Amino acid sequence: MMIICKTIQEIRDFEEKLISQNGLIGFVPTMGALHEGHISLIKQSKQCCEITICSVFVNPNQFNDKGDLARYPRTPEADIKILEDAGCDIVFMPSAEEIYPKDDTRVFDFGTLDKVLDGAYRPGHFNGVAQVVSRLFDIVKPHKAFFGLKDYQQVLIIKKMVEQLQLKVEIVACPILREPDGLAMSSRNTLLNLEERKAASLIPRLLQEARELSKSISLVDVKNRLLAQVSTNPLLKADYIEFCDTDTLQTVSEISTDKKIICLAAIFSGKIRLIDNLFIT
Ligand code: AMP
Repeated sequence: MMIICKTIQEIRDFEEKLISQNGLIGFVPTMGALHEGHISLIKQSKQCCEITICSVFVNPNQFNDKGDLARYPRTPEADIKILEDAGCDIVFMPSAEEIYPKDDTRVFDFGTLDKVLDGAYRPGHFNGVAQVVSRLFDIVKPHKAFFGLKDYQQVLIIKKMVEQLQLKVEIVACPILREPDGLAMSSRNTLLNLEERKAASLIPRLLQEARELSKSISLVDVKNRLLAQVSTNPLLKADYIEFCDTDTLQTVSEISTDKKIICLAAIFSGKIRLIDNLFIT
């Protein structure tokens, strides 16, 4: 039976028992509306940890767009069922008051890492992510925490935060799960209507094309071609398509042997903003 905790006290009580059993605690933080992508993280945790804890919390501090927060899908009953079926041991479903009894005013300094890509288009987003994840780590005290590479910039930010705060948790980055047509699984996909969903399937195709084209033409030309394709569909609008260094997320203009390159995209289909990425080299 999976244990459902709503308060920090409940989590701490269960953890005391667990710690005495000496097992590794694996943690999967989520915002709910769970899909196969989330479940792949739970499975990964179950493979290497004795106890798996998942949190479901829609973190208001990481939404710069209040419409996006209001619209964000919430399916707690279905989430509980999915987690139970996946063999999750504990789900933590706190209220906002539980996580933030008073305003979290901490400001993190991630250097250039949170100034680019989603950090530039969603001001304050990664500071809010760092606030909630550090708070959750403090409550759950996991040995390992599992994050999806779909949110590539988030993985780098969390790793940096762990380093800065000198936390003992190991961050495990897990592969992107995709729908049969290649679209990266996302809770936001449920908000797309039929036409928007169809249009969104261009995103993974663009990334594949980026990988192919970058072998023969300059990255600037590839980027322009991809942006031109996006603009031919009236339902789509690109925030960015960028080729970046996988470590620093600084834009790169050419392929070189000394760094690995990732192509990252943030594209609206209708009102819904979707992100995706693909390693190029
Ligand atoms: P979210 O609920 O969207 O905040 O996501 C919670 C965790 O699941 C994050 O670490 C995400 O990167 C991860 N995740 C979301 N979608 C996918 C996916 N399609 N494949 C793998 N991991 C994912």
